[in-house]
Amino acid sequence: MSALAPNYKRKNLSFVKGKGSFLITANGKKYLDFVQGIAVNSLGHANKKLINAVNKQSKKLWHVSNAFNIPEGEKLAKRLAKRTFADSIIFQNSGAEATETAIKVARRYFYSIGKENKNRIICIKNSFHGRTLAAIHASGSKKMTQGFGPKIPGFDHFEFGDHKKLKKLINKNTAAIMIETIMGEGGVKVIPNWCIKEIRKLCTKKGILLILDEVQCGIGRSGKFFAFEYANVKPDIVPIAKGIGGGFPVGAVLMTKKLAKAMVPGTHGSTFGGNPLAMAVGNAVLDQIDKNLLMNVNKMSKYFINELNKIKIKYPKIIKDVRGVGLLIGLQLFKDQTEFIKKLMDNKLLTIRAAENVIRILPPLNVKKREINIALKIIGKVCNEIK
Ligand SMILES: *Cc1c(COP(=O)(O)O)cnc(C)c1O
Repeated sequence: MSALAPNYKRKNLSFVKGKGSFLITANGKKYLDFVQGIAVNSLGHANKKLINAVNKQSKKLWHVSNAFNIPEGEKLAKRLAKRTFADSIIFQNSGAEATETAIKVARRYFYSIGKENKNRIICIKNSFHGRTLAAIHASGSKKMTQGFGPKIPGFDHFEFGDHKKLKKLINKNTAAIMIETIMGEGGVKVIPNWCIKEIRKLCTKKGILLILDEVQCGIGRSGKFFAFEYANVKPDIVPIAKGIGGGFPVGAVLMTKKLAKAMVPGTHGSTFGGNPLAMAVGNAVLDQIDKNLLMNVNKMSKYFINELNKIKIKYPKIIKDVRGVGLLIGLQLFKDQTEFIKKLMDNKLLTIRAAENVIRILPPLNVKKREINIALKIIGKVCNEIK
C-alpha cells in the first residue's frame, strides 16, 4: 500500500523523463502530454533555457528570507509590471495562495481607508480558486467544502451568467468581485468579453474591486499575455501561478499602486515566496513569453479548434461542444468523459477532465503542428471506437 494519502485518484502510470510535448515511461513508452502538469509547463518539459536558469542560480543562491532584498524578484516584479496593468507584485508559491492574497489585498485596502466592513467578495458558484480553506469557500462548491468545518464567511455567489443576481448581491459591504477570466476546472467556460466589460463597469460604478483569477488562463495560455486583454479591461488585482513557473512552484498577485499602499510591512508574508531560485526560473519563463510564442499559441489554437470542430461534425452524437481560447481547449462530450480520456491515454495521448463532461486539452505554448496532428488522429480514432 502507498504511504501517500489517498486524496488523488491517480492513473497507474508514471514517468521518468519529459521532453517538450512528450513524457517517457521507465520502459521507454512515449506519451503526448497535452496536460503539461495542468497548464503549468508552459514551455513543455526540459526547456533548455529553464534548465540553464535553474542550474546557474542553484550554484549561486537558492533561498534567503524576505528580510533581505532579492534582486531576482525585484527584476521579475518590474518586468511583470511593465507588461501589465500592475504597479506592484507580491510573490507566492501557488495558485491558492495567490487567490487568498488577492482577497487579503482587497480587504486590507478598504480597511486602510477606514471601511473595514467592506470585506465581502462575490464569486461565481462552482468556480475554482484553489484548495485552501478560504479558497474552497470562495469557490462556492459543495463538493469541495463538504466536511471541512464551519463555512468561512465573507463570500457571496451568483450562477455563471446571472448578472441580475450579481447586481443584487452588491451592497455596501462588498469589497470585490473575483472571477476566473476563463473557468478552467469549471469546464473551460469562457466568460464573454461583453460580460467581463460589464462587470468591470459595474465594479467601477459601485466603487468595488475587480479580481481576475488568471492562475490557469494567464501568462500566454490564452494567446494574449492575460486573457482579460481580449475584453480590453483593466482589473485591480490579478492572481497568477501555474504558467509563470514553467514547472517550478511560483505564484504571485499583481495589483495597482493604490492597493499596494495598503500592504504595509507586516500585513503579509511568505517564507518561500519569491526566493532567488524561483525568481530566476520566473524570469527565464518570462524571457520566452514573447510575441513569437503568443503568435504560435494563436496559430496552433486556430488550427486545433478548427480541426476539432471537423471531428465534432463527423461525430455529432459524441462531441457536444469544442470550446476554449488559445491553448486552453475543452472538448465537451454528451456523456461522462472518463472512458474517452482512458482511451486517449491507451493511445498515448494525455488529457485531463474538467466539469460538465469536458476533456481539457492543454498543450505547451510552443507546441508544434505535427504534435497537434498526432493528437487529432488519436481523438478521431477514439471517437470511432466509442460510437
Ligand atoms: C489551479 C488554480 C488555482 C489553484 O492553484 P494551486 O497552485 O493548485 O493552489 C486557483 N485558481 C485557478 C483558476 C486555478 O486554475
